[in-house]
This record gives sequence, C-alpha cells and structure tokens, in this order.
Amino acid sequence: MESFYMRVKKADEAGYAAALAGLAHNKKQETRRMDAVARKLAAMDGGHNKFLESIIVWLDVRAPRYWWQEADTFRLSTKQSESTMHTLTEELSAIDIGDPAAVAAFIADNFEPNSCSPQTLAWIYQTVPQKNLIEIKKKLPEGFLQTRMWCMSYKTLRNIILQRRSHRLPHWKEFIRQVLAQVEHPELLPTLEREKKTDVQQ
Ligand SMILES: Cc1cc2nc3c(=O)[nH]c(=O)nc-3n(C[C@H](O)[C@H](O)[C@H](O)COP(=O)(O)OP(=O)(O)OC[C@H]3O[C@@H](n4cnc5c(N)ncnc54)[C@H](O)[C@@H]3O)c2cc1C
Repeated sequence: MESFYMRVKKADEAGYAAALAGLAHNKKQETRRMDAVARKLAAMDGGHNKFLESIIVWLDVRAPRYWWQEADTFRLSTKQSESTMHTLTEELSAIDIGDPAAVAAFIADNFEPNSCSPQTLAWIYQTVPQKNLIEIKKKLPEGFLQTRMWCMSYKTLRNIILQRRSHRLPHWKEFIRQVLAQVEHPELLPTLEREKKTDVQQ
C-alpha cells in the first residue's frame, strides 16, 4: 500500500484556440500555423510564453492538508475547498464509533495512511457532542484528506512543475504525473523528468 495519497481529476480545460489566436496577432500570422510556434515559445520564460496564461485548467485534487499548505504558496490560481467546519462534523457524528469496521472505513476514506489511528479518531470524536468546531479543527491530523477544485493557467502549471518535480515530498511528482496524463496539451509543459539547469533546488 502507498504511504501517501494524491488524486487528481481534471474537471475542465479551456482557452487553447483563443490563446493561439492571440499569439498569431504578434506577427499577423495565420492562426492555423500557431501550434508549432506555441510549442517553440512555451519554454521561453521572460515574456515569450505569456500565451500560456490564457489556457486555463480546472483540477479536482484530493490530498492531505500538509500538502495543501505547500500548494497554497502558488498564488496565481484560485481554489474552492470542502469545508472542514461543516462536512467533517456532520460526517463524524454519523459514524458508529463503537464499530471497529466503521471506524476503519472512515479513517481509510478521510486520512492518508498512517496519519490517524482509531484512538486518535476516538479522541477527536469526544469533541463532537460539544459541537465545538474549533476544538475539532485543532485536533485534526495533518494527514486529513481534503478535496479542492484548483483552477490555474498553464503558466502557473509550468511554474509548479519546474519548482516541484524534484521535490522531496512524493506527492508533487505524483501530482505532476497525473496532471500531465490528463491535460490536452502536455507538449506545452515541462516533462516530469528533471533537467538540472532549470529546476529549483530543494
Ligand atoms: C523547496 C521549496 C521550499 C519552500 N519553502 C518555503 C517556506 O519555507 N516558506 C514559504 O513561505 N514558502 C516556501 N516556498 C514557496 C516559495 O517561496 C513560493 O512561494 C512558491 O514556490 C510559489 O512560487 P511562485 O511565487 O513562483 O508562484 P506564484 O505565487 O504562482 O507566482 C508566480 C509568479 O508571479 C509573481 N507574483 C505572485 N504574486 C505576486 C504579487 N503579489 N506581486 C508581484 N508578483 C507576484 C511571482 O513572483 C512569480 O514570479 C518553498 C518553495 C520551494 C520550491
């Protein structure tokens, strides 16, 4: 069993045709010839690959909160998340804490492997009758899995790949692998393989 969790499902993608039409304005070229130009410019930072900002992708990502903390440092994007305040309290109050199978199933669905024991869940559960949301949040292990819809441009995605494909948290490699397998134009993005001169050192 994997010791970490990462799941990416592309929800939507848009903007390729318009981005290339914009690119064609530069030298008044024909739009139909822009695929090759886009491929050439995609890796040229410093102004030439601005068209990547017009291609937008929506990714539905389920990952532990400690990974989200790192993902949040990428500011040029927007996210909508599950509320830990509302959904978690309701889901917790619905489980039969005396049933080991129900407890194990709840842990498997909601936490990364090895991040929440039945004892820890019972400790969190003690807070439920008080309906004190702050106390539940304080007790929540960092391995709690949260789903968020993450919307960003290919430019931001490019930045993420260059900064994180060599990162020591295995989640990043897996995130990039799943993203590249689903986007419509992986040829405009860096590959998962590291190229020493362009990568950010950890
Ligand atoms: C190995 C590693 C360790 C790290 N450790 C830490 C850490 O300990 N603490 C921490 O806080 N961060 C840490 N970071 C995060 C890092 O500082 C960046 O915040 C993060 O990687 C996002 O990168 P970015 O700024 O390029 O991306 P984005 O936030 O997506 O920004 C993209 C580009 O837009 C520019 N930009 C964004 N917002 C503005 C703005 N308001 N005004 C002007 N320009 C803007 C950026 O300069 C950048 O060029 C770490 C990163 C790595 C790779």
